[in-house]
Amino acid sequence: MATIFTRIINGEIPCYKVYEDEKYFAFLDINPLKKGHTLVIPKVEDDYIFNLDDETYAGLCLVAKKIAKALKESTKCQRVGVTVMGMEVPHVHIHLVPMDKEKDMLFSNPKLELSADEMKSIAEDIAKRI
Ligand code: AMP
Repeated sequence: MATIFTRIINGEIPCYKVYEDEKYFAFLDINPLKKGHTLVIPKVEDDYIFNLDDETYAGLCLVAKKIAKALKESTKCQRVGVTVMGMEVPHVHIHLVPMDKEKDMLFSNPKLELSADEMKSIAEDIAKRI
């Protein structure tokens, strides 16, 4: 069965899209640690980042770098933190989290509750800077 992220790529489940190309896709995390918290994924399904072939892995990192630059510009954060976990969704994803202090990266922090309009405008602002 397709992963939830494949269903997002296929448009079966809505998302706040930030970026898409032939091999990669990025969208806002629905439970953001910070405004602009973005997930960057390969379109190919694999549940563990270090199982990706070298080309897909390197390409994913380059796309994450490109999006991180736009995210930093959009959110005016000090830097963008990077985390890979995958304990919940078995489809490789890189978390990009705008951060101003170390504690911003704690996944045990309460998640933000943002309106659909705000999520949409955040995604659009990041996307236009890529
Ligand atoms: P993890 O697999 O532990 O790296 O966490 C999966 C992440 O995916 C969590 O931060 C969730 O909030 C996020 N997530 C799960 N479902 C969706 C969805 N439909 N749209 C956006 N983000 C999601």
